[in-house]
Formats: sequence, structure tokens, C-alpha cells
Amino acid sequence: MRSMIPDYLSEALTDVTSDTSGAPAGYIPELAAADPDRLGAAFATVDGEVYGAGDVDVEFTIQSISKPFTYALALTDRGFDPVLARVGVEPSGEAFNEISLEDGSGRPRNPMINAGAITTHALAGSWDLDPGERLERVVAGLSAFAGRRLEVDAAVCASELEHAHRNLAIAHLLRSHGILDEDPTAVVAGYTRQCSVLVTVRDLAMMAATLANRGVNPRTGERVVSEPAVRQVLSVMSTCGMYDAAGDWATQVGIPAKSGVAGGLIGALPGQIGIATFSPRLDSHGTSVRGVSLFERFSADMGMHLMEVPPPARSVVRSNHVVRSGPDAIRVLELQGGIRFAGAERVVREAVASEPAAAGLALDLTMVHSLDDVARRMLLEVARRLTLDGHDVYVVDPESVLPDPDPGEGGRVTVLDSLR
Ligand code: GLN
Repeated sequence: MRSMIPDYLSEALTDVTSDTSGAPAGYIPELAAADPDRLGAAFATVDGEVYGAGDVDVEFTIQSISKPFTYALALTDRGFDPVLARVGVEPSGEAFNEISLEDGSGRPRNPMINAGAITTHALAGSWDLDPGERLERVVAGLSAFAGRRLEVDAAVCASELEHAHRNLAIAHLLRSHGILDEDPTAVVAGYTRQCSVLVTVRDLAMMAATLANRGVNPRTGERVVSEPAVRQVLSVMSTCGMYDAAGDWATQVGIPAKSGVAGGLIGALPGQIGIATFSPRLDSHGTSVRGVSLFERFSADMGMHLMEVPPPARSVVRSNHVVRSGPDAIRVLELQGGIRFAGAERVVREAVASEPAAAGLALDLTMVHSLDDVARRMLLEVARRLTLDGHDVYVVDPESVLPDPDPGEGGRVTVLDSLR
């Protein structure tokens, strides 16, 4: 059998081909000259499988899609506080190149608009790097996200720099507010090179999958940025990634995303996949027209909207029964699946309701594949409280899904491989 996923992607591309509305970015001459009919889409899973259709190996410049990744690098390299002191996290509701800085402080509202991204470029790597070393830190970081060495397109970069008056104006304003400490011209040159990094749809899908996979590249296994940085970046992508179209995108598509004026568009679905599309004709927000249609379709067809409510946690308790009898009776709560707060709450409730019925309680985790830290602490607290009430507590955990099963003061658990 052949996988249906590439066929699905091809079909989706065919359906948007007739839409020739919009136009390639006009303000960067090299981009205006791009072939407007290029079209590609790819999915990359968090275990490294890539599915693609159309122009998935054609190189184009990353442009603003570099912004979330450079923000992640800055957070990882400098820590949160120094970065947050200089760039906010509030949606601006304005165009990507708007000259909008916070009243008084001069802080850019978020790292997805140019003002914020020019600032985050200067925050990547340690503070003492020169502009060349800083650019190398950024290109190496973007490359680690993609899983291969990426290069800068010198022609696109030169073409943008000749017309970079607006970004230069923004950078000078940032310098006047002390948000930038360095020469504004050098920072804009570095930022423009960052935007001119060449990528393919396949690269972008893998970069997005690295975000979806908590910062670890699914192919190379390299941890590129920290988990807290990924959470921060995905949050900012979902509120600010689509600029003045963020609300429409959040309701229609519901996937943290970022667009670029060369026609790329990415989405990262946490724990599932990275998605990328490429089609150079843009709408009035500077986002690929066909890219938006494709993402709307992917989200609807495959239930990818992040606010789509998952099945309720009640299925966590698979059965609740008593084994043995008399003073040896043990109540067994057989649990299953992945357990987080709401699932653990079901277990707590079940344990509370059935407490007096048997001398002992066993939590059978044989069918549980994951327990997050909150669930772990809640189950251990169940064990501690039951011990204090005079019950014997057992945890059946043949696969060790409950690490360090110490319930704390006054609690005691016996860990078993099975109840037999
Ligand atoms: N390099 C472009 C700029 O700064 C990036 C803009 C974008 O992709 N939205 O104007």
C-alpha cells in the first residue's frame, strides 16, 4: 500500500492552483521577480517523517519566518528577563513593518513585527559578539532547526538592503530609546541577512516540527532550544504570528504560525507535526494567498485546530474492581492512556469515593503510556493520604511510567510488576 498523505497533499495543491490572486512582494525587487506559480506543501512529523507534494525542494528566502526561530535562540542564549526587558509579547494588531513602539519605553510590542525582530536579532548569541559572529550564530541556529547547513542568498539580501529605509528608520528609533545598543545600520544588515537565508518547503516543515517536538530536531536528535523557549515562541506565534490577521487566523486555522514575504508559511502543531507551504503571491497582510487556503483546508480536514476539544479524561480509569477478599481485599484502579491534570483528578475522585471499601488500594499503571509531572504528584499524594488513613497502597508499574515513586512524609507505596 502507498501512504495516502502525499496524495492528499497533491490533491490540496491542485485545488488551490487556479487561485492566482495577490502578487509577490513588490518592495524587494528580487522577490518581485520570483516565479509566482511555484507551489508546494509538506508535513513533517515529530518522529522525523516528511511528506511533501509540489515544489518542496525549491529554495526561496525565509524572510519573516526566521523571526520565531531567532526569538527562540535569543531566549535560549540570553535567558528570558533580558529579552523581555527589550521586546514585549503583546499583539500589535498592525502590519509587520509598522513603526510602532511602546509609549515611553520604546520597547517593540512583540518579536514578530519588524521592530521586535530587529531587536531580537541583536539579542541572539552572547552580548559580546561582533555583527559577523552574531549572524553566524543565527544562521547556525536556523540550520540546526532545519537539520542541514543553510546559506544566505546574497542577491536577495543586497536587493532588500538597497531599499531598507523603513527598517533603518525603525532601528534608529530603537537605538534612540536605548533598546538597541549597537550601530543600527549593522543590526539591520544582520537582520536582513537573517531574512535572506535560503530554505525549501521541506526545511521549513522540519523547522516547524522541531518546535512541535519541544525544541529537539526530529531527524538529527539535536536539542536546538530549551523547552520553555519553545512554549514562549509558540504562544507568541499564536497571538502575533499573523500580524493584523491574527484573530482571523486563530479562529479559522488555530495553528501557531508564521508567514514570510517570499511566500513561505509555517505552522507548528505541538506534539504532532510541522507544516509548511510555499506560494509567492501575497495578500494585503504580506501572507501567501494559497498558503492561507491550504492551511484552512488542512486544519478543517484533519481536525488540527488547537482549540478543538480533546476527548474527556474520564477514559483514564479503565476499571475499578476488588481482588481478594476479607482483610486482604485490594481495590484496583486500572488506569490507561496519557494522564495529565484532568485525568489525575478522575483518579483522585475515584479513590476518594471508594476508599472505605477495601484495606488496600492498587493503582495499576500497566496500560498508562505517559504521566506528566502534575499527574505524578497527584497520584503520589493519593498514596500518601491513603497511607495516613491506614491503607496499604500498591503501584503496579511494569514499565516504570511513574519515576521516583516516593509519596513523601507519612506515605508508603509498594511498587509491583503485576498483582499476581
Ligand atoms: N525582510 C522582510 C522585512 O523586513 C521580512 C518581512 C516579512 O517577511 N514579513 O521587511
